[in-house]
Amino acid sequence: MKGSGNTLIIVDMQFDFLAGGALAVPGADLEMARKIDRIANLFDQVILTADDHPVDHISFNTFAVHCVHDTPGAKLAVNCKGSVLYKARQYDSEEYSAFFDGRRINMIEGSDVYVAGVAGDFCVKATIEDLLRYAQDKRVFAIIDLIKSVNGSTYVDHDPFEGKVRFVTSDQVSKRIEVGQGG
Ligand SMILES: [Zn+2]
Repeated sequence: MKGSGNTLIIVDMQFDFLAGGALAVPGADLEMARKIDRIANLFDQVILTADDHPVDHISFNTFAVHCVHDTPGAKLAVNCKGSVLYKARQYDSEEYSAFFDGRRINMIEGSDVYVAGVAGDFCVKATIEDLLRYAQDKRVFAIIDLIKSVNGSTYVDHDPFEGKVRFVTSDQVSKRIEVGQGG
């Protein structure tokens, strides 16, 4: 049974960021994508974000070319249904978070917002920071085993959110939502 008011935000689970991709994040692979698909079923609302870069995007000065519009590497590796928010489509602007400046934040329906995806030290971090900044009425959860970082660290090793984000595992998410408990 679904709980009430739970939103899952899946950040940039695109093939270029997974093992074998152009800008692979260590530990991110299809198995991780399937795990995200499985827990996505438990949520009332699923929002997916995706890099969608033009061929000359400014970030390619820093990073390997990745997630170019309409290429296989830009495709989502998760199969779950949800609203897809594309970002960083202008060649001269970088957008780590789909909620930059608070835009689109109002589409988040749940009072409890869970975040998974890549990369924990870039786009996931920026997404969570925007949630803390622009959606202060919501409780924010990071699903720690379903977030992988470029530098290999986890939020448990070093909390970049100063205690404002609840860290949970995917197993805890399943149990928590299935029994519908708050707190
Ligand atoms: Zn990008």
